[in-house]
Amino acid sequence: MILMKTPLVEMDGDEMTRIIWQNIKEILILPYVDLKTEYYDLGLENRDKTGDRVTEEAARAALRLGVAVKCATITPNAERVREYNLREMWKSPNGTIRAILDGTVFRAPILAEGIRPLIPGWQKPITIARHAYGDVYRGVETAVPAGGRAELVITAADGTQTSQLIHAYDGAGVALAMHNTDASIMSFARSCFRYALDVKQDLWFATKDTISKKYDHRFKDIFAEIYEAEFDAAFRQAGIEYFYTLIDDAVARVVRSEGGFIWACKNYDGDVMSDMVATAFGSLAMMTSVLVSPAGAYEYEAAHGTVQRHYYKHLKGEKTSTNSVATIFAWTGALRKRAEMDASEDLADFAVRLEKATLRTIAEGVMTGDLASISQLAQKKVAGSEEFLLAVRERLAT
Ligand code: NAP
Ligand code: MG
Repeated sequence: MILMKTPLVEMDGDEMTRIIWQNIKEILILPYVDLKTEYYDLGLENRDKTGDRVTEEAARAALRLGVAVKCATITPNAERVREYNLREMWKSPNGTIRAILDGTVFRAPILAEGIRPLIPGWQKPITIARHAYGDVYRGVETAVPAGGRAELVITAADGTQTSQLIHAYDGAGVALAMHNTDASIMSFARSCFRYALDVKQDLWFATKDTISKKYDHRFKDIFAEIYEAEFDAAFRQAGIEYFYTLIDDAVARVVRSEGGFIWACKNYDGDVMSDMVATAFGSLAMMTSVLVSPAGAYEYEAAHGTVQRHYYKHLKGEKTSTNSVATIFAWTGALRKRAEMDASEDLADFAVRLEKATLRTIAEGVMTGDLASISQLAQKKVAGSEEFLLAVRERLAT
Protein backbone atom coordinates (compact mmCIF):
# COMPACT_ATOMS: atom_id res chain seq x y z
CA MET A 1 0.00 0.00 0.00
CA ILE A 2 1.27 3.43 -0.97
CA LEU A 3 0.75 5.96 1.80
CA MET A 4 -0.34 9.57 1.33
CA LYS A 5 0.73 12.50 3.51
CA THR A 6 -1.78 15.17 2.54
CA PRO A 7 -5.32 14.51 1.33
CA LEU A 8 -6.53 15.41 -2.14
CA VAL A 9 -9.64 17.52 -2.44
CA GLU A 10 -12.09 15.14 -4.12
CA MET A 11 -15.02 16.75 -5.95
CA ASP A 12 -17.59 14.17 -6.99
CA GLY A 13 -19.98 14.88 -9.85
CA ASP A 14 -22.88 13.70 -11.96
CA GLU A 15 -24.35 11.04 -14.25
CA MET A 16 -22.09 8.66 -16.20
CA THR A 17 -18.90 10.29 -14.98
CA ARG A 18 -20.04 9.82 -11.35
CA ILE A 19 -20.31 6.09 -12.02
CA ILE A 20 -16.93 5.98 -13.74
CA TRP A 21 -15.47 7.98 -10.83
CA GLN A 22 -16.47 5.32 -8.32
CA ASN A 23 -15.22 2.53 -10.59
CA ILE A 24 -11.83 4.17 -11.14
CA LYS A 25 -11.34 4.48 -7.40
CA GLU A 26 -12.44 0.91 -6.64
CA ILE A 27 -10.69 -0.83 -9.52
CA LEU A 28 -7.55 1.22 -10.11
CA ILE A 29 -6.67 3.26 -7.03
CA LEU A 30 -7.91 1.82 -3.74
CA PRO A 31 -6.20 -1.59 -4.22
CA TYR A 32 -2.81 0.18 -4.44
CA VAL A 33 -3.02 3.50 -2.61
CA ASP A 34 -4.13 4.25 0.94
CA LEU A 35 -6.13 7.07 -0.59
CA LYS A 36 -6.67 10.14 1.56
CA THR A 37 -9.23 12.65 0.33
CA GLU A 38 -11.32 15.47 1.68
CA TYR A 39 -14.59 14.58 -0.05
CA TYR A 40 -17.06 17.12 -1.47
CA ASP A 41 -20.17 15.91 -3.24
CA LEU A 42 -20.75 18.31 -6.15
CA GLY A 43 -23.47 16.08 -7.56
CA LEU A 44 -26.43 18.26 -8.53
CA GLU A 45 -28.69 16.93 -5.76
CA ASN A 46 -26.21 17.87 -3.06
CA ARG A 47 -25.53 21.26 -4.63
CA ASP A 48 -29.25 21.89 -4.48
CA LYS A 49 -29.51 20.63 -0.91
CA THR A 50 -26.65 22.84 0.29
CA GLY A 51 -27.71 25.91 -1.68
CA ASP A 52 -24.50 25.38 -3.71
CA ARG A 53 -22.37 26.07 -0.61
CA VAL A 54 -20.61 22.75 -1.20
CA THR A 55 -19.06 24.10 -4.41
CA GLU A 56 -17.59 27.12 -2.64
CA GLU A 57 -16.35 24.97 0.24
CA ALA A 58 -14.68 22.61 -2.21
CA ALA A 59 -12.95 25.49 -4.01
CA ARG A 60 -11.68 26.91 -0.72
CA ALA A 61 -10.42 23.48 0.25
CA ALA A 62 -8.49 23.39 -3.03
CA LEU A 63 -6.82 26.69 -2.11
CA ARG A 64 -6.01 25.36 1.37
CA LEU A 65 -4.71 21.89 0.41
CA GLY A 66 -3.28 22.79 -3.00
CA VAL A 67 -4.48 19.87 -5.15
CA ALA A 68 -8.00 18.87 -6.19
CA VAL A 69 -9.49 16.33 -8.58
CA LYS A 70 -12.95 16.97 -10.00
CA CYS A 71 -15.57 14.81 -11.70
CA ALA A 72 -17.68 16.34 -14.49
CA THR A 73 -20.78 18.09 -13.21
CA ILE A 74 -24.08 19.23 -14.68
CA THR A 75 -24.45 22.95 -15.32
CA PRO A 76 -28.18 23.28 -14.88
CA ASN A 77 -30.44 24.78 -17.54
CA ALA A 78 -34.26 25.00 -17.51
CA GLU A 79 -34.58 21.34 -18.45
CA ARG A 80 -32.30 20.24 -15.60
CA VAL A 81 -34.22 22.41 -13.14
CA ARG A 82 -37.33 20.35 -13.98
CA GLU A 83 -35.49 17.03 -14.15
CA TYR A 84 -33.94 17.44 -10.69
CA ASN A 85 -36.71 19.60 -9.24
CA LEU A 86 -34.11 22.25 -8.32
CA ARG A 87 -34.72 25.17 -5.99
CA GLU A 88 -32.65 27.41 -8.26
CA MET A 89 -30.79 27.28 -11.56
CA TRP A 90 -27.40 26.98 -9.85
CA LYS A 91 -24.39 28.49 -11.57
CA SER A 92 -21.78 26.44 -13.39
CA PRO A 93 -19.59 24.78 -10.72
CA ASN A 94 -16.54 25.31 -12.92
CA GLY A 95 -17.35 29.02 -13.10
CA THR A 96 -17.69 29.22 -9.30
CA ILE A 97 -14.45 27.32 -8.72
CA ARG A 98 -12.60 29.40 -11.31
CA ALA A 99 -13.80 32.63 -9.69
CA ILE A 100 -12.50 31.53 -6.26
CA LEU A 101 -9.19 30.13 -7.55
CA ASP A 102 -8.75 33.01 -10.05
CA GLY A 103 -7.15 30.48 -12.30
CA THR A 104 -6.22 29.71 -15.87
CA VAL A 105 -7.37 26.50 -17.54
CA PHE A 106 -4.80 24.38 -19.39
CA ARG A 107 -6.17 21.73 -21.73
CA ALA A 108 -3.97 19.00 -23.13
CA PRO A 109 -4.73 15.95 -25.28
CA ILE A 110 -3.67 12.47 -24.22
CA LEU A 111 -1.74 10.79 -27.03
CA ALA A 112 -2.15 7.05 -27.42
CA GLU A 113 -0.54 4.67 -29.89
CA GLY A 114 -3.14 3.69 -32.47
CA ILE A 115 -5.02 7.02 -32.28
CA ARG A 116 -3.18 9.17 -34.79
CA PRO A 117 -3.82 12.94 -34.86
CA LEU A 118 -5.45 14.27 -38.04
CA ILE A 119 -2.34 16.44 -38.45
CA PRO A 120 0.33 13.81 -39.05
CA GLY A 121 3.23 16.01 -37.92
CA TRP A 122 1.90 16.32 -34.36
CA GLN A 123 3.99 13.96 -32.26
CA LYS A 124 3.54 15.57 -28.84
CA PRO A 125 0.58 17.17 -27.10
CA ILE A 126 -0.27 20.84 -27.63
CA THR A 127 -1.62 22.43 -24.47
CA ILE A 128 -3.99 25.36 -24.81
CA ALA A 129 -4.02 27.93 -22.01
CA ARG A 130 -7.15 30.03 -22.28
CA HIS A 131 -7.60 33.35 -20.52
CA ALA A 132 -10.89 32.97 -18.70
CA TYR A 133 -11.95 36.57 -18.17
CA GLY A 134 -13.41 39.39 -20.24
CA ASP A 135 -13.20 40.42 -23.91
CA VAL A 136 -16.24 39.50 -25.97
CA TYR A 137 -17.60 37.26 -23.15
CA ARG A 138 -18.23 40.38 -21.05
CA GLY A 139 -18.97 42.53 -24.07
CA VAL A 140 -21.66 45.19 -24.22
CA GLU A 141 -23.26 45.28 -27.65
CA THR A 142 -26.07 46.98 -29.42
CA ALA A 143 -27.77 47.49 -32.75
CA VAL A 144 -27.42 51.03 -34.08
CA PRO A 145 -30.21 52.59 -36.15
CA ALA A 146 -29.48 54.43 -39.41
CA GLY A 147 -28.04 57.87 -38.81
CA GLY A 148 -26.81 56.92 -35.30
CA ARG A 149 -23.42 57.75 -33.80
CA ALA A 150 -21.49 55.40 -31.53
CA GLU A 151 -18.96 56.91 -29.11
CA LEU A 152 -16.58 55.46 -26.56
CA VAL A 153 -16.72 57.53 -23.35
CA ILE A 154 -14.33 57.04 -20.43
CA THR A 155 -15.10 58.80 -17.15
CA ALA A 156 -11.99 59.03 -14.96
CA ALA A 157 -12.10 58.70 -11.16
CA ASP A 158 -12.07 62.52 -10.89
CA GLY A 159 -15.04 62.82 -13.24
CA THR A 160 -13.22 64.10 -16.32
CA GLN A 161 -14.43 62.55 -19.53
CA THR A 162 -12.77 61.71 -22.81
CA SER A 163 -14.71 60.45 -25.76
CA GLN A 164 -13.83 58.99 -29.14
CA LEU A 165 -16.04 58.55 -32.12
CA ILE A 166 -16.44 54.86 -32.96
CA HIS A 167 -18.56 55.37 -36.07
CA ALA A 168 -21.11 57.71 -37.57
CA TYR A 169 -23.60 55.41 -39.28
CA ASP A 170 -25.28 56.19 -42.60
CA GLY A 171 -27.31 53.01 -42.63
CA ALA A 172 -28.11 50.74 -39.71
CA GLY A 173 -25.33 48.72 -38.05
CA VAL A 174 -23.99 47.22 -34.84
CA ALA A 175 -21.49 48.18 -32.13
CA LEU A 176 -19.62 46.22 -29.45
CA ALA A 177 -17.55 47.36 -26.47
CA MET A 178 -15.39 44.99 -24.50
CA HIS A 179 -12.92 45.25 -21.65
CA ASN A 180 -10.23 43.53 -19.65
CA THR A 181 -8.17 44.46 -16.60
CA ASP A 182 -4.42 44.57 -15.98
CA ALA A 183 -4.92 42.47 -12.84
CA SER A 184 -6.61 39.65 -14.75
CA ILE A 185 -4.07 39.71 -17.57
CA MET A 186 -1.24 39.63 -15.03
CA SER A 187 -2.60 36.61 -13.22
CA PHE A 188 -3.17 34.90 -16.59
CA ALA A 189 0.45 35.58 -17.52
CA ARG A 190 1.82 34.31 -14.19
CA SER A 191 -0.25 31.12 -14.38
CA CYS A 192 1.08 30.46 -17.89
CA PHE A 193 4.74 31.06 -17.00
CA ARG A 194 4.44 28.97 -13.84
CA TYR A 195 2.75 26.10 -15.67
CA ALA A 196 5.38 26.13 -18.44
CA LEU A 197 8.07 25.78 -15.77
CA ASP A 198 6.09 23.00 -14.12
CA VAL A 199 5.85 20.86 -17.24
CA LYS A 200 9.14 22.15 -18.76
CA GLN A 201 7.63 23.14 -22.09
CA ASP A 202 8.02 26.28 -24.21
CA LEU A 203 5.29 28.88 -23.90
CA TRP A 204 3.87 30.58 -27.00
CA PHE A 205 1.60 33.60 -26.79
CA ALA A 206 -0.09 35.36 -29.65
CA THR A 207 -2.51 38.25 -30.14
CA LYS A 208 -3.44 40.65 -32.94
CA ASP A 209 -1.38 43.55 -31.59
CA THR A 210 -0.61 44.96 -35.05
CA ILE A 211 -4.29 45.85 -35.46
CA SER A 212 -5.27 46.26 -31.82
CA LYS A 213 -2.54 48.68 -30.81
CA LYS A 214 -3.83 49.44 -27.31
CA TYR A 215 -5.96 46.45 -26.30
CA ASP A 216 -4.04 43.43 -27.58
CA HIS A 217 -0.81 45.34 -27.20
CA ARG A 218 -1.45 45.58 -23.46
CA PHE A 219 -1.55 41.77 -23.27
CA LYS A 220 1.73 41.57 -25.15
CA ASP A 221 3.39 44.18 -22.89
CA ILE A 222 2.18 42.65 -19.64
CA PHE A 223 3.43 39.21 -20.66
CA ALA A 224 6.80 40.68 -21.66
CA GLU A 225 7.19 42.70 -18.44
CA ILE A 226 6.30 39.81 -16.15
CA TYR A 227 8.52 37.45 -18.10
CA GLU A 228 11.54 39.77 -17.84
CA ALA A 229 11.00 40.64 -14.19
CA GLU A 230 10.04 37.26 -12.75
CA PHE A 231 10.65 34.32 -15.05
CA ASP A 232 13.51 34.89 -17.48
CA ALA A 233 16.17 33.30 -15.25
CA ALA A 234 14.02 30.31 -14.33
CA PHE A 235 13.13 29.68 -18.00
CA ARG A 236 16.82 29.74 -18.98
CA GLN A 237 17.67 27.38 -16.20
CA ALA A 238 14.89 24.98 -17.24
CA GLY A 239 16.01 25.22 -20.89
CA ILE A 240 12.65 26.44 -22.11
CA GLU A 241 11.61 29.49 -24.07
CA TYR A 242 8.92 32.18 -24.01
CA PHE A 243 7.94 33.19 -27.50
CA TYR A 244 5.52 35.91 -28.67
CA THR A 245 4.18 36.15 -32.20
CA LEU A 246 1.16 37.40 -34.14
CA ILE A 247 -1.89 35.14 -33.94
CA ASP A 248 -1.89 34.45 -37.72
CA ASP A 249 1.75 33.44 -37.58
CA ALA A 250 1.06 31.29 -34.52
CA VAL A 251 -1.70 29.36 -36.29
CA ALA A 252 0.60 28.57 -39.22
CA ARG A 253 3.45 27.53 -36.91
CA VAL A 254 1.17 25.35 -34.76
CA VAL A 255 -0.01 23.38 -37.78
CA ARG A 256 3.56 22.88 -38.99
CA SER A 257 4.92 22.04 -35.52
CA GLU A 258 5.46 18.67 -33.92
CA GLY A 259 3.69 19.78 -30.74
CA GLY A 260 5.12 19.69 -27.25
CA PHE A 261 4.45 23.30 -26.17
CA ILE A 262 1.87 25.46 -24.43
CA TRP A 263 -0.12 27.89 -26.51
CA ALA A 264 -1.52 30.77 -24.44
CA CYS A 265 -4.62 32.32 -26.01
CA LYS A 266 -6.86 35.26 -25.29
CA ASN A 267 -10.37 34.25 -24.26
CA TYR A 268 -12.01 34.00 -27.70
CA ASP A 269 -8.94 32.55 -29.43
CA GLY A 270 -8.74 29.90 -26.69
CA ASP A 271 -12.40 28.99 -27.08
CA VAL A 272 -12.03 28.42 -30.82
CA MET A 273 -8.51 26.98 -30.91
CA SER A 274 -9.10 24.45 -28.11
CA ASP A 275 -11.92 22.86 -30.10
CA MET A 276 -9.73 22.80 -33.19
CA VAL A 277 -6.80 21.26 -31.34
CA ALA A 278 -8.98 18.71 -29.49
CA THR A 279 -10.65 17.56 -32.69
CA ALA A 280 -7.39 17.37 -34.61
CA PHE A 281 -5.86 15.23 -31.86
CA GLY A 282 -8.77 12.79 -32.14
CA SER A 283 -11.35 12.97 -29.38
CA LEU A 284 -12.80 15.24 -26.70
CA ALA A 285 -12.87 12.19 -24.45
CA MET A 286 -9.03 12.25 -24.52
CA MET A 287 -8.61 15.84 -23.28
CA THR A 288 -7.46 16.63 -19.78
CA SER A 289 -7.93 19.96 -18.11
CA VAL A 290 -6.17 21.57 -15.18
CA LEU A 291 -7.04 24.84 -13.49
CA VAL A 292 -3.94 26.55 -12.08
CA SER A 293 -4.39 29.41 -9.64
CA PRO A 294 -1.81 32.20 -9.40
CA ALA A 295 -1.42 31.20 -5.72
CA GLY A 296 -0.27 27.73 -6.85
CA ALA A 297 -3.37 25.55 -6.33
CA TYR A 298 -4.22 22.91 -8.96
CA GLU A 299 -7.55 21.38 -9.91
CA TYR A 300 -7.54 18.44 -12.36
CA GLU A 301 -10.49 17.19 -14.41
CA ALA A 302 -11.54 15.70 -17.73
CA ALA A 303 -12.53 18.25 -20.38
CA HIS A 304 -15.73 16.43 -21.38
CA GLY A 305 -19.10 16.60 -19.65
CA THR A 306 -21.17 14.05 -17.73
CA VAL A 307 -21.94 11.96 -20.87
CA GLN A 308 -25.68 12.14 -20.25
CA ARG A 309 -26.73 9.96 -23.20
CA HIS A 310 -24.64 7.04 -21.92
CA TYR A 311 -26.02 7.53 -18.40
CA TYR A 312 -29.60 7.10 -19.58
CA LYS A 313 -28.58 3.90 -21.34
CA HIS A 314 -26.92 2.76 -18.13
CA LEU A 315 -30.10 3.52 -16.15
CA LYS A 316 -32.08 1.36 -18.57
CA GLY A 317 -29.68 -1.49 -17.84
CA GLU A 318 -28.02 -1.33 -21.27
CA LYS A 319 -24.29 -1.87 -21.74
CA THR A 320 -22.23 1.32 -22.06
CA SER A 321 -18.80 1.94 -23.54
CA THR A 322 -17.81 5.27 -21.98
CA ASN A 323 -14.23 6.41 -22.25
CA SER A 324 -12.69 6.86 -18.80
CA VAL A 325 -9.18 7.85 -19.94
CA ALA A 326 -9.45 11.60 -19.31
CA THR A 327 -10.92 10.96 -15.86
CA ILE A 328 -8.14 8.45 -15.05
CA PHE A 329 -5.61 11.09 -16.11
CA ALA A 330 -7.33 13.67 -13.90
CA TRP A 331 -6.66 11.33 -10.98
CA THR A 332 -3.06 10.61 -12.01
CA GLY A 333 -2.41 14.31 -12.60
CA ALA A 334 -3.67 15.13 -9.11
CA LEU A 335 -1.81 12.23 -7.46
CA ARG A 336 1.40 13.18 -9.24
CA LYS A 337 1.13 16.83 -8.19
CA ARG A 338 0.34 15.75 -4.60
CA ALA A 339 3.35 13.43 -4.70
CA GLU A 340 5.56 16.26 -5.93
CA MET A 341 4.39 18.61 -3.16
CA ASP A 342 4.84 15.93 -0.49
CA ALA A 343 8.06 14.50 -1.98
CA SER A 344 6.46 11.06 -2.17
CA GLU A 345 8.33 9.03 -4.76
CA ASP A 346 6.22 5.89 -4.66
CA LEU A 347 3.02 7.88 -5.16
CA ALA A 348 4.53 9.67 -8.17
CA ASP A 349 5.70 6.33 -9.51
CA PHE A 350 2.21 4.87 -9.13
CA ALA A 351 0.68 7.74 -11.13
CA VAL A 352 3.14 7.11 -13.96
CA ARG A 353 2.48 3.36 -13.93
CA LEU A 354 -1.28 3.87 -14.04
CA GLU A 355 -0.96 6.20 -17.04
CA LYS A 356 1.32 3.75 -18.83
CA ALA A 357 -1.04 0.83 -18.16
CA THR A 358 -3.94 2.88 -19.53
CA LEU A 359 -2.10 3.78 -22.74
CA ARG A 360 -0.80 0.22 -23.15
CA THR A 361 -4.37 -1.10 -22.92
CA ILE A 362 -5.34 1.10 -25.88
CA ALA A 363 -2.16 0.31 -27.82
CA GLU A 364 -2.94 -3.39 -27.38
CA GLY A 365 -6.30 -2.81 -29.02
CA VAL A 366 -8.64 -2.74 -26.02
CA MET A 367 -10.60 0.54 -26.10
CA THR A 368 -14.03 2.10 -25.75
CA GLY A 369 -16.31 2.60 -28.75
CA ASP A 370 -15.46 6.26 -29.32
CA LEU A 371 -11.78 5.40 -29.82
CA ALA A 372 -12.39 2.19 -31.77
CA SER A 373 -14.23 4.26 -34.39
CA ILE A 374 -11.16 6.44 -35.02
CA SER A 375 -8.28 4.07 -34.26
CA GLN A 376 -5.94 2.94 -37.03
CA LEU A 377 -5.11 -0.34 -35.26
CA ALA A 378 -5.99 -3.44 -37.25
CA GLN A 379 -6.96 -5.51 -34.22
CA LYS A 380 -9.31 -3.84 -31.80
CA LYS A 381 -11.83 -4.90 -29.25
CA VAL A 382 -14.58 -2.56 -28.07
CA ALA A 383 -14.66 -2.73 -24.29
CA GLY A 384 -17.56 -1.77 -22.02
CA SER A 385 -17.04 1.02 -19.49
CA GLU A 386 -16.07 -1.27 -16.62
CA GLU A 387 -14.43 -3.87 -18.83
CA PHE A 388 -11.91 -1.25 -19.99
CA LEU A 389 -10.97 -0.42 -16.39
CA LEU A 390 -10.51 -4.12 -15.61
CA ALA A 391 -8.27 -4.44 -18.68
CA VAL A 392 -6.16 -1.53 -17.37
CA ARG A 393 -5.89 -3.22 -13.98
CA GLU A 394 -4.60 -6.43 -15.55
CA ARG A 395 -1.77 -4.42 -17.11
CA LEU A 396 -1.18 -2.36 -13.98
CA ALA A 397 -0.74 -5.55 -11.97
CA THR A 398 2.05 -6.85 -14.21
P1 NAP B 1 -20.59 15.53 -22.95
O1 NAP B 1 -20.95 14.97 -21.64
O2 NAP B 1 -19.19 15.97 -23.12
O3 NAP B 1 -20.97 14.50 -24.07
C1 NAP B 1 -21.26 14.82 -25.41
C2 NAP B 1 -21.06 13.61 -26.31
O4 NAP B 1 -19.67 13.43 -26.54
C3 NAP B 1 -21.53 12.30 -25.68
O5 NAP B 1 -22.90 12.08 -25.88
C4 NAP B 1 -20.63 11.31 -26.37
O6 NAP B 1 -21.04 11.07 -27.72
C5 NAP B 1 -19.32 12.07 -26.46
N1 NAP B 1 -18.49 11.86 -25.26
C6 NAP B 1 -18.10 12.81 -24.36
N2 NAP B 1 -17.33 12.27 -23.42
C7 NAP B 1 -17.24 10.96 -23.71
C8 NAP B 1 -16.59 9.87 -23.08
N3 NAP B 1 -15.89 10.04 -21.96
N4 NAP B 1 -16.70 8.64 -23.65
C9 NAP B 1 -17.40 8.47 -24.77
N5 NAP B 1 -18.03 9.46 -25.41
C10 NAP B 1 -17.98 10.69 -24.88
O7 NAP B 1 -21.48 16.82 -23.25
P2 NAP B 1 -23.07 17.04 -23.10
O8 NAP B 1 -23.80 15.76 -23.27
O9 NAP B 1 -23.34 18.18 -23.97
O10 NAP B 1 -23.24 17.51 -21.62
C11 NAP B 1 -23.72 16.69 -20.56
C12 NAP B 1 -23.64 17.47 -19.27
O11 NAP B 1 -22.29 17.73 -18.98
C13 NAP B 1 -24.34 18.82 -19.31
O12 NAP B 1 -25.28 18.88 -18.24
C14 NAP B 1 -23.24 19.83 -19.13
O13 NAP B 1 -23.65 20.89 -18.30
C15 NAP B 1 -22.13 19.04 -18.48
N6 NAP B 1 -20.76 19.49 -18.78
C16 NAP B 1 -19.89 19.50 -17.74
C17 NAP B 1 -18.55 19.82 -17.96
C18 NAP B 1 -17.62 19.82 -16.78
O14 NAP B 1 -18.01 19.55 -15.66
N7 NAP B 1 -16.36 20.07 -17.00
C19 NAP B 1 -18.10 20.11 -19.24
C20 NAP B 1 -19.01 20.08 -20.30
C21 NAP B 1 -20.34 19.74 -20.06
P3 NAP B 1 -22.06 9.90 -28.16
O15 NAP B 1 -23.34 10.19 -27.45
O16 NAP B 1 -22.10 10.07 -29.62
O17 NAP B 1 -21.47 8.59 -27.71
MG1 MG C 1 -16.07 26.41 -27.28
